[in-house]
Amino acid sequence: MRKLFLDVFDNYTEFYNNPAENINIKKTIKYDIPYEMNTILQLDPKKYLITGSYGVGNPTETPWIAIFDRSITVSAQHGFYVVILFRKDMQGCYLSLNQGTTYLRNKFKGYKPVQKMKEVATKLENSLSFHTVNGLISEINLASIQQNARAYEAANIQAKFYARNAFPSNEELAVDVQDMLENLDKIKNFIGIRTLDQVIDDLIYQEEINDVKFQEDVLISLPAKTIQAPNPVPNKTMSSPNTEKYLRDSKIAKEALILAEYKCEADPTHLTFVSPLTGENFVEAHHLIPISFQNDFKYSLDVPGNIISLCPNCHREIHHGVNENKAKMIRTFYEKRKEILRVFGINEELNNIFKMYRLSFFSIKNSDFL
Ligand SMILES: [Zn+2]
Ligand SMILES: [Zn+2]
Repeated sequence: MRKLFLDVFDNYTEFYNNPAENINIKKTIKYDIPYEMNTILQLDPKKYLITGSYGVGNPTETPWIAIFDRSITVSAQHGFYVVILFRKDMQGCYLSLNQGTTYLRNKFKGYKPVQKMKEVATKLENSLSFHTVNGLISEINLASIQQNARAYEAANIQAKFYARNAFPSNEELAVDVQDMLENLDKIKNFIGIRTLDQVIDDLIYQEEINDVKFQEDVLISLPAKTIQAPNPVPNKTMSSPNTEKYLRDSKIAKEALILAEYKCEADPTHLTFVSPLTGENFVEAHHLIPISFQNDFKYSLDVPGNIISLCPNCHREIHHGVNENKAKMIRTFYEKRKEILRVFGINEELNNIFKMYRLSFFSIKNSDFL
């Protein structure tokens, strides 16, 4: 297998620059590598399809070999699959759990669809307890500015990098692919009976819908009396299809709103309206460190120290605003809260919190293409 990959690393650029020549590489990508993968992986051909592509019409800068679960998709344009993506500079390739992006590209055309691709990838990774593959990375760089390559980067859910000069043995490759196929199986369970487009819509909107209900519960809850010390991790629940989630306690959120005196912590002059349920200025509770990252913490994130009181306008902005404003708000709240967070046993660097809000990706990469 290594020999076939080296053939691509060594000869693809020449083919790309002059597609009429070196046409043997087409056969390597389209037939030889898939054939050898089938032999090594011993997958059931009724269940999986392995296929390679060097682009349609003009050659692509970043050829790929995909493993499709036929019951999910057999197209790189839609659905979820495992794919080996070559870097443009042919210095290596990625084994990637990836997704087709046509639906999001069309739906958010002109409105930064790439941001949505990244959002779907992050939400999937947060909601499914993936089997951990050794040496996983969450961001890939194909060293190309072609649209397709940028979309694969944004749509990457998880990946592993193989440098050209350290390509794995057949056995190692097989183990990595099998591990990633297990995660693809988890996505398949998560999809359930929904269509692929429904799954993406649910990932984008379900959290918002749940939050409306949560904020209503907060208003009618009695406040908790949380002790100012590290608190045990909250319980998990099975929410909609096959997703485990940590529960937020509306009583603790109510306690936080009372501590903030029902003021917007972004700007206390933000008056909204008097809620008939509380008789106070209407505000919402926002977890500064999102509860979906609870797995990475030893103590509960559902504590007053981590819950910010915000007017609905500012609350929408911290979720949906431009990155610059989001980052500004997060930084301000972090500076105000880092001491009290420590009291609750939560130590986290600002940079990591930025990453949780997907701010690192966009500060590095221009998200305005497509
Ligand atoms: Zn929020
Ligand atoms: Zn506000």
